[in-house]
Amino acid sequence: MEVRVRYAPSPTGLQHIGGIRTALFNYFFARSKGGKFILRVEDTDRERYTEEALQDLYTTLDWLGVKWDEGPEIGGPYGPYIQSERFDLYREYADKLLEDGKAYRCFCTSERLEKLREEQKKGKKSLGYDRHCRNLTQEEVNAKISAGIPSVIRFKVPFEGKTSFEDVLLGKVTRKNKDISPDPVLLKSDGFPTYHLANVVDDHFMKISHILRAQEWIPSGALHVLLYEAFGWSPPVYCHLPMVMGKDGQKLSKRHGSTSVVEFREKGYLPEAIINYVSMVGWSYDDKREFFSREELEKLFSLEKINKAPGVFDYKKLEWFNGQYIRKKSMPELTGLVLPYLKKEGIISDPVTDKEMEIVEAMMPLMAERLHLLSDISKLSAFLFKDITDYDAAALVPKKMNTEGTIRVLEEILSVIGNVVNAGEEEAETIFRGIAEKLEVKLGSVLMPLRVAVTGSTVSPPIIGSIRLIGEEKTVERIKIALEKLKREVENG
Ligand code: GLU
Ligand code: ZN
Repeated sequence: MEVRVRYAPSPTGLQHIGGIRTALFNYFFARSKGGKFILRVEDTDRERYTEEALQDLYTTLDWLGVKWDEGPEIGGPYGPYIQSERFDLYREYADKLLEDGKAYRCFCTSERLEKLREEQKKGKKSLGYDRHCRNLTQEEVNAKISAGIPSVIRFKVPFEGKTSFEDVLLGKVTRKNKDISPDPVLLKSDGFPTYHLANVVDDHFMKISHILRAQEWIPSGALHVLLYEAFGWSPPVYCHLPMVMGKDGQKLSKRHGSTSVVEFREKGYLPEAIINYVSMVGWSYDDKREFFSREELEKLFSLEKINKAPGVFDYKKLEWFNGQYIRKKSMPELTGLVLPYLKKEGIISDPVTDKEMEIVEAMMPLMAERLHLLSDISKLSAFLFKDITDYDAAALVPKKMNTEGTIRVLEEILSVIGNVVNAGEEEAETIFRGIAEKLEVKLGSVLMPLRVAVTGSTVSPPIIGSIRLIGEEKTVERIKIALEKLKREVENG
């Protein structure tokens, strides 16, 4: 059997981590089996549909380098792949179920259904449609239609028995039919299908072999199986994917941090890192290997290695992956990637000047070591482009040191700075060690005031390299400004 899988998002919101995890697992599974990956847009909910969400779907998959074999824009043998372009098909199949007595027209007004809900709430009875119209006679139905009363088409869920399906991960999943929502709507009064009808009809006609989707869809599984049976079709193989949780064991949500892919992208995560890390949430090749390129996952992915337990999404771990991938980039490539961030923050001009570009190129090897996110570049490198006119005195003074001690450190540094700028890395360090010994302080207590004086921040690229980048003149100037600040502090008590 040819593997044909689909990612079938509803464009009602931005693509989030859980969604693209589903997309990636489908995509890798298709690739690893030499099958087809299909993108299907499930835009039947016209109230929640947004054009922005649809565009975001395309740009996100494009950014991740996930290409569909069949789907919007490129088409395919079983298209169209956008559900709103397939409404005639759904109507036809809803009618078929009507004819076969497996579905029925419901003429209940929204007022009646509302009242029913109210009563059920009061009586604490199970919620859901009371199957009021299930037993209307054909004459009654015809009369209502002639009278122009609008209707929906509902599916007849059996009262008794149970329905099961085999799930690759979970084994046999069984649901009592009485627990399935009583007679769900398949076709709304405006002729629009609901998710259940469109999803089942499309999976059948698009010849989907496996359904890989989030576990939150398990409750729909049994209903879908009943629908396949009603149509006389056989359902695809199911594989419901474990949930994606935050570290607190709760379903991943906004509370945990960014969840939309576009936010990660804007912060400067690389697609390689997202693909690699997100694929590790609930899947592993073996228990050791952590690094996989998209191309490798296209070969190595397998359903057998998906975990049954929920996957934990660890933001710190993703950040770590991102740093690793940043350091795999060539300098020219990385330079190209950080330029937009520098422009956006006004660190460099747009277009970048030759002078600025020279600095950017010179600084990149130093910066690369310290970047977790591309956006870190602005804070880290601002000191190379902007003068520092004022200091946070508290940041200048290391812990376990006082202002006077810090002044002595900076004065010592000032007296040897010319040597440092011209020295090699090791030699420069020896000079600083000498100062630390002489003043009987830790090396860190020498380097920290210097770091803050030169870069304006306690977090910076390696300090010796930073000094070389800005040069002796500016370094001296900044140390002097920092010293003045500290001396004023002392004077003012
Ligand atoms: N449109 C559904 C969603 O938004 C598809 C669920 C499924 O894969 O069946 O996730
Ligand atoms: Zn009804």
